[in-house]
Amino acid sequence: VKEKGGNNYQLYTPSMNEKLREQLSLEKDLHNVLENQELLVYYQPKVDINTENIMGMEALLRWKHPQEGMISPAIFIPLAEENDCILKIGEWVLRTACHQNKQWQDAGYEPVCVAVNISVRQFQQPNFVELVAKVLEETELNPKYLELEITESIAVEDINYTIEVLNKLKDMKIKIAMDDFGTGYSSLSYLKKFAIDNLKIDQSFVRDIISDQNDAAIAATIIAMGNSLNMKVTAEGVETKEQWDFLKDQKCDYVQGYLFSPPVPSMEFEKMLRKSR
Ligand code: C2E
Ligand code: CA
Ligand code: CA
Ligand code: CA
Repeated sequence: VKEKGGNNYQLYTPSMNEKLREQLSLEKDLHNVLENQELLVYYQPKVDINTENIMGMEALLRWKHPQEGMISPAIFIPLAEENDCILKIGEWVLRTACHQNKQWQDAGYEPVCVAVNISVRQFQQPNFVELVAKVLEETELNPKYLELEITESIAVEDINYTIEVLNKLKDMKIKIAMDDFGTGYSSLSYLKKFAIDNLKIDQSFVRDIISDQNDAAIAATIIAMGNSLNMKVTAEGVETKEQWDFLKDQKCDYVQGYLFSPPVPSMEFEKMLRKSR
């Protein structure tokens, strides 16, 4: 067997065949997740690093598969992105998250922003802006309490189109976050042209921030750059007090991570909201 890389061929094994079959059947099941009501939205708090108040939350999909149990979005989102499934699933998350946020506001909790992940494929739909406007209208959520998380891969496509869409969203007062920042290929000059409110440091830089000087330097640089470009900076995947303190020293604004809370079902999130302020 040749090394991976070079010619990039791998030995065919029965277990790979099995994996492939599994994937194919998951892909088939994906078409019915909405009809079968198998999707759930979990919420993870985004916390002010200085006050520890909950400033917002990220909506994260969960798939409760009748046979396979809970399936991670890291597995099924890429599958859904290969076909149009991601469009209806994406619309459903957006509507569910906006509706939930509005309900919490109506119940009297301090209003916070809900962040929803948007796939490139969704963003590129010609009616994307109209769809977001429609969902906001239907759910009656004030647009300033919605944040859309996009990734740098958006910049690989038509830059002028991307800028145009982002500006329309900004005009509607919707917030934009650049997710997984530093892992993609976007040029820094785009960052300035895109109407970005929030820069999210990818958890791969946060993980070893205490032990790895390079990661520490990268995180510190992203924070300094975000601050000087008037963006808020959020660190993802904060699991320890040491990471939190380091990020606080560097003037990071917000943190998300297991140290404060993992993503939780809406009922549990509401309990945190009740305690927060
Ligand atoms: P992401 O947008 O980068 O989301 C952050 C991921 O980090 C989440 O994984 C979250 O559960 C996890 N995480 C949070 N805190 C910690 C921590 O302290 N340590 C560690 N190790 N992990 C932490 P999750 O929920 O499995 O989601 C994986 C990815 O799936 C997301 O990465 C996002 O790219 C995608 N995804 C999830 N929901 C949606 C969605 O509604 N739409 C789209 N397009 N993508 C989604
Ligand atoms: Ca995200
Ligand atoms: Ca992320
Ligand atoms: Ca990620």
